[in-house]
Amino acid sequence: MKDVGGAPPGGFQVLVVEDDEQMRRFLRVTLSVNGYSVTEATTGTEALAIAESRRPDLIILDLGLPDLDGVAIVNKLRKWFSGPIVVVSARHQEGDKVQALDSGANDYLTKPFGTSELLARLRAALRQTNRIGTEPEQGIFVSGDLRVDRDRYEVFVRGQLIKLTPLEYRLLHTLVRHAGKVVTRRQLLREVWGETHLEESHYLRVYMSSLRRKLEQNPARPEWLVTEQNVGYRLRIE
Ligand code: CA
Repeated sequence: MKDVGGAPPGGFQVLVVEDDEQMRRFLRVTLSVNGYSVTEATTGTEALAIAESRRPDLIILDLGLPDLDGVAIVNKLRKWFSGPIVVVSARHQEGDKVQALDSGANDYLTKPFGTSELLARLRAALRQTNRIGTEPEQGIFVSGDLRVDRDRYEVFVRGQLIKLTPLEYRLLHTLVRHAGKVVTRRQLLREVWGETHLEESHYLRVYMSSLRRKLEQNPARPEWLVTEQNVGYRLRIE
């Protein structure tokens, strides 16, 4: 595995799939300047072919392409591609964005977005993917003052042991497993409550607010358990 850490992202190959020329140029320039090597595709068909021949480390995929549906492309890629996929969507594509995430995209960017947001998302996606397989379920997770000991099922905030109910713990544990990455409501419901409860978004709201009350200094402005509007939640990492 390549090292992501704080080091420059040297050697990571990114496939940019975008039909809009201006956006493509912005991505190409920004990524190249920041040490990524960039390959480009302007249609879904081309993207699938290039992904297969070049085997990029990461794919940035615009959801509004002229030929194929973005969600269908994510589904096709996920049959063999295990690297991060970051989808790019326009404001009116909220639904597609959630579907793409449910199909296995790692994260999303909504147009317009700036350079620092783009680079932060890519770093997080690469870090997340590289972490899988090395410390998936166990061990101690630390983000700032939050500490989750997954071997002992214990949670500490600023050194204080916090008492969680089993469901609160499971919800937190699921977010920790995907730390730094947006997790859709559907995905959380599936992983915490199971297949039969995919529509029960209110469970999630109830348990998320009790988790916030227990963990966050200011539950109305959470530091760790962040809401991703219309999508789901993200455990912020430091
Ligand atoms: Ca487009």
